[in-house]
Amino acid sequence: MKIEIIACLNDNYSYLIEDKNTNIISIIDPSDFNACDKIVKKYKKLDYILNTHHHADHVDGNLQLKKKYNSKILGFTGDKDRIPGISILLNENQKFKIGSLDFKVIFTPGHTSGHIAFFFEESKIVFTGDTLFSLGCGRVFEGTCDQMFNSINKLKNLPPETKVYCGHEYTKKNSEFCLKYDPKNLKLIEKINLISSQRNKNLPTIPTTIQEEKETNIFLRCNLAEVKKALNMKDQPDHEIFHKLRDLKDTF
Ligand code: ZN
Ligand code: FE
Repeated sequence: MKIEIIACLNDNYSYLIEDKNTNIISIIDPSDFNACDKIVKKYKKLDYILNTHHHADHVDGNLQLKKKYNSKILGFTGDKDRIPGISILLNENQKFKIGSLDFKVIFTPGHTSGHIAFFFEESKIVFTGDTLFSLGCGRVFEGTCDQMFNSINKLKNLPPETKVYCGHEYTKKNSEFCLKYDPKNLKLIEKINLISSQRNKNLPTIPTTIQEEKETNIFLRCNLAEVKKALNMKDQPDHEIFHKLRDLKDTF
């Protein structure tokens, strides 16, 4: 499974997946037709388009790509009326095969009510859209904060070595927020140095891993005493910590 990272719009990422065994080509969240087609063209075909959620900055390339390559569009069944050109409806925990590559649908509502992530179990790769970011999590638009916390925890429980490909390059800004409430986290400080050097060279900070996120992403660290203490909430349950962090991040 080969992945090409495609930078789109201001800070979006689309991902092209090549299955070398079967020559099946897929793309995750084509934000922008022109940027995506520049890469798709090289392969002369596009079999599948996978959407994590219905927002325009994740589906805007759908119809033009479908028209040009006759691709099938996959998305959550609950979003069948909002994902342009959708042709295959996916359910929670469903398994699906693109070429020889199996993925499982992880239902991750919160950012939108029909958000899903795609987990490729064998290669240990997850595409998280706008649910889990490197050092952050998505804004809660359509769901509740508890739903988002639950969705983030589903991803947190994937195998630690799982590589995470998310929908946006928000890492640097996210790191400033993490550092504010987790200032003594040495792994975080180390990661921030790496992020700066990557961004200075205009390189993506993606992929990250579940393990790295558990060590550095404050939204995955709501259970820790030092984080609770930094928020003056040392006796509060984890979901209240998450809620507080999400509120603080909204105005950061
Ligand atoms: Zn979104
Ligand atoms: Fe987005």
